[in-house]
Amino acid sequence: NIRVRFAPSPTGDLHIGGVRTALFNWLYARHNNGQFILRIEDTDSARSTEASTKQILKALEWVGLNWDEGPRIGGDRGPYFQSKRDDYYQKALEYLLENNRAYYCYCTPEEVEKLKKEAEKKGGQPLYPGGCRELSLNEKKKFKEEGRKPVVRLRTPDTGYTIVKDIVRGKVSFDNSLQEDLIIVKSDGKPTYNFACVVDDFQMGITHIIRAEEHLSNTPKQLMLYQALNYKVPEFAHVPMILAPDRSKLSKRHGATSVDEFKEEGYLPEALINYLLLLGWSPGNNEEIISLETAIKKFNLADVSRTPAVYDTKKLTWINGQYMNSLPLNKIIDRAIPFIKRADFYSDELFNNTAKKERLFKIIDVVREKSKTITELIDRMGYFYNEINSYDEKGFKKHFTKEDTIAILKNNIDCLKKVTPFNREKIEEIYRQRSEELGVQAARMIHTTRLALSGKTFGPGLFTLVELMGRDKSIKRLEKALA
Ligand code: GLU
Repeated sequence: NIRVRFAPSPTGDLHIGGVRTALFNWLYARHNNGQFILRIEDTDSARSTEASTKQILKALEWVGLNWDEGPRIGGDRGPYFQSKRDDYYQKALEYLLENNRAYYCYCTPEEVEKLKKEAEKKGGQPLYPGGCRELSLNEKKKFKEEGRKPVVRLRTPDTGYTIVKDIVRGKVSFDNSLQEDLIIVKSDGKPTYNFACVVDDFQMGITHIIRAEEHLSNTPKQLMLYQALNYKVPEFAHVPMILAPDRSKLSKRHGATSVDEFKEEGYLPEALINYLLLLGWSPGNNEEIISLETAIKKFNLADVSRTPAVYDTKKLTWINGQYMNSLPLNKIIDRAIPFIKRADFYSDELFNNTAKKERLFKIIDVVREKSKTITELIDRMGYFYNEINSYDEKGFKKHFTKEDTIAILKNNIDCLKKVTPFNREKIEEIYRQRSEELGVQAARMIHTTRLALSGKTFGPGLFTLVELMGRDKSIKRLEKALA
């Protein structure tokens, strides 16, 4: 049975790198009918916050990565917060101390620094040399009396190599002589990341550890702990980093990076997930729009790329545009509602009055087709509700400054006055008819109408636009353009 976990530290918002790691874990679990476990790594009480935990859970829910065990739902290998798992760490610690695999080190951080410098001066590595490994009872007593608060270190081998077998990266070997005795418990009694992580992964029965490449250097340390604790070693897969377009480390200055920011900018969770899926994995062909079902079917850790993935907002936006079009309308409506409620054209009536609500939904359906994000959708809905006070500049020059402009606008008004019933088909019919009768291009009639009604040169199909705008408003706007 496959068991994987996503183990975020709640010290900030969930970023796309984290979501990508969560996604790969989730897909691997779903592909194998295994379990996806969520564990909150909050041992660093100074930096961990409840707000961040909440944000992470909300963000995972928003992107649809549901967990089988973890916060809120529990499970039989809990608790799922490291801050509540002291008993497990304590037991593992006792085991290591009893078996002489770990020892108390009384050196202060300053002393350790000094020792490292000295080791370096002697031509060695700047590593803690392990002086507290064999303290006598008397020495220990003396240190305790001085009031020193010890850390606990793992005895690690001084020679040889530790080999990480990684599903993505193959065998990676680490020189033990470059590794110092690892601190597993801090002087405040709290476990360090490596220690807590190993104890938890073992106790939670994790079979595959899928995490970011930046943790690869922790893996030899963790392997030493597995060995010392006599735990079965799980499989490892380190997934490549996500780089900014300029190939530097992705950061704030590259725009949105946290899930909440993408949500605020009007991206759809389906698109974000689809995009993140492609950062380091591909289904083996050039397909770019991949449903979750397909991804679950095809996902394989061996196909994860070793090379860093380069983040590209344009591609994300393009994918988002595809989903704006293809998702069921009710999904788009649900996602759009919070944005509509903040829009300048919002009024309670839009949702309370049945006719207005129906029209609103129709407008969304028509406008979403060419909108790449929800934000763009809202922008483009504005002219259905707000008066238009300006026309697109280029459009104005092109369509409103010709000699025949007035005649055309008048003709358009006349068409709209006469057409019955006032629907798309009939409007189109009368426009085409008139265009032939008068020998004016239908395109002239269409472009001028669009500009008069929306102020823009592009948008949904014109006849649909006119129908949705309604007869009175359409005529008024054409008259305004005349004036
Ligand atoms: N808490 C660690 C992090 O957020 C988890 C690393 C791991 O998956 O082992 O980076």
